[in-house]
Amino acid sequence: NRVEFMEFFNHVIDRFEMHKRENIEFKRELPDRKLYVWIDKDKLTQVVDNVISNAIKYSPEGGTIRFKATTNKKQLIISISDEGLGMPANTVDKIFDRFYRVDKSRTRELGGTGLGLAIAREIIDAHHGKIWAESQEGKGTTVLFTLPLMSQKRRGKK
Ligand code: ATP
Ligand code: MG
Repeated sequence: NRVEFMEFFNHVIDRFEMHKRENIEFKRELPDRKLYVWIDKDKLTQVVDNVISNAIKYSPEGGTIRFKATTNKKQLIISISDEGLGMPANTVDKIFDRFYRVDKSRTRELGGTGLGLAIAREIIDAHHGKIWAESQEGKGTTVLFTLPLMSQKRRGKK
């Protein structure tokens, strides 16, 4: 379905903001423009839910979670950053594998099955986008994904 992504994204963020711990701050840097994508809303909700849950789960007291959206000619680029414990550079790709969890002892107490991001990658692949992570140990993690933008209707010239 054709979905205006910023309205959709803001709704998902709102839902988390209502229930989040008080010592975590949300900051949005999102465009006011309408940006249309062709997506399965339920599936994208699953992706965004998992990425935000992870950011919250691994955020320290007083941490800020930043939500950004930018575009280039053809795609929308979403990024969700936290100031959590991060991970070593050689694991940022593995976290998208099924059942992979960084440092089992560290994350066991935080719960989870290690499937969330593997499912997210399948969903984003099916939408012809990409999803990846950037991280610095001890500084935080950013998860980014892209979605193809629907071409804007041209006006005037044929
Ligand atoms: P599930 O999502 O199935 O409940 P999970 O959150 O452990 O379990 P994923 O969402 O797939 O699984 O994440 C895989 C692993 O990647 C996590 O266990 C964690 O080690 C690491 N990870 C994911 N996001 C972050 C983050 N924001 N900061 C630090 N580590 C992260
Ligand atoms: Mg998860």
